[in-house]
Amino acid sequence: MTAVSPTATSSRLFERAATVIPGGVNSPVRAFGSVGGSPIFMASANGPYLVDVDGKEYVDLICSWGPMILGHRHPAVLEAVRGAMDHGTSFGTPTQGEIALAEEIVSRVEPVEKVRLVSSGTEATMSAVRLARGFTGRNKVVKFAGCYHGHVDALLASAGSGLVTLGLPDTPGVTGAQTSDTIVLPYNDLAAVERTFAEHGGEIACVITEAAPGNMGAVPPLPGFNAGLKEIAHRHGALYISDEVMTGFRASRAGWFGRDGVAPDLLTFGKVMGGGFPAAAFGGRADVMDMLAPLGPVYQAGTLSGNPVATAAGLATLQQCTDEVYTRLTRAADTIGAEVSKALSEAGVAHRLQYSGTMFSVFFSEQEVVDFDGVKASESFRYTAFFHSMLEQGVYLPPSPFEAWFVSASHDERAVDRIVSALPAAARAAAGARA
Ligand SMILES: *Cc1c(COP(=O)(O)O)cnc(C)c1O
Repeated sequence: MTAVSPTATSSRLFERAATVIPGGVNSPVRAFGSVGGSPIFMASANGPYLVDVDGKEYVDLICSWGPMILGHRHPAVLEAVRGAMDHGTSFGTPTQGEIALAEEIVSRVEPVEKVRLVSSGTEATMSAVRLARGFTGRNKVVKFAGCYHGHVDALLASAGSGLVTLGLPDTPGVTGAQTSDTIVLPYNDLAAVERTFAEHGGEIACVITEAAPGNMGAVPPLPGFNAGLKEIAHRHGALYISDEVMTGFRASRAGWFGRDGVAPDLLTFGKVMGGGFPAAAFGGRADVMDMLAPLGPVYQAGTLSGNPVATAAGLATLQQCTDEVYTRLTRAADTIGAEVSKALSEAGVAHRLQYSGTMFSVFFSEQEVVDFDGVKASESFRYTAFFHSMLEQGVYLPPSPFEAWFVSASHDERAVDRIVSALPAAARAAAGARA
């Protein structure tokens, strides 16, 4: 007699999904491609927990990749959403809620004088780069290997091994023309930035960076890196764009800016500020933002931009993000990280625990990881074994070694205890993994 798999329904659904949805998923990382196995279909969630279609409960350590900073089904957010829905779901006209959300963002993040709402982080970064090009009248964009800014054509370029690599497309469908003005540099390497600006300074519209990267795992900026970027960019008449789609309203009340105090010309937001709905934004200096249509010549638009339901969810979420919430996030992230590190040390697994604010990740590496080459050099095969052991024990980690872990303010002692009790077996699995 064979036991019925505890995830049998998920496996069946994945097969069904794959016949009508490419790869069975609507965003690639969900497919478990880098850890193997069949993705788990979730049916519901509450606080720090997810429940799958087979009824199994997991402690959630991705929090929808950031948005669920208060935990799932926070009563204030649900109430705001229901209230908004009762008045209608989309009008294609300005609404009061958009002003309230914009005011909340402007009041939290000092360098944001004006802000425009969009529907995804991808749209935010795409629009910010277009605006920087329109404002400066220049074409080139500097980005960093391992930094993800959504699936914007011009930003889907990564580095080869040279110090200055003219961007080559990462994916079919993006043409060389679309990335030919993209310059990809190694992260945390100010000398490379300095050399690039010395050569191309007059053609560079902007440098865009994740405020504190979380999309290659957590690889925070070295002290002075962001300040150096801004200084070099400004010396050459270029804009400094900080992508805070992940760190915004998560690293602190004012995101990563609230930690490093380096005022960007433009910032992008998403994830947390949508409260689990499609809402994102870009904002910054008023003189730059006023170049946007209808005031200025740089076109940008969106049928569902500032959608009343998404806006209500985002505003309610930000209003709940009090100092106490950030204290709880920090405590949960510190405690869980320390326990992971302890379990791995006890199992004899070399690793580095790294934080980008309250996001963190574990690299199976002896050295500190400061750039994408370091990420790629880590023993990521150990993560597969670690991930599946945790999953089996009811802890849902990012299904990729190169994604950050996210906690919420609802990760209480009980949730943390469940993680801690799963760690020793997972650490032993990581120790025993073979490449
Ligand atoms: C998630 C993310 C994006 C893209 O946002 P989407 O809403 O997925 O389009 C852009 N930049 C960063 C730093 C992100 O983490």
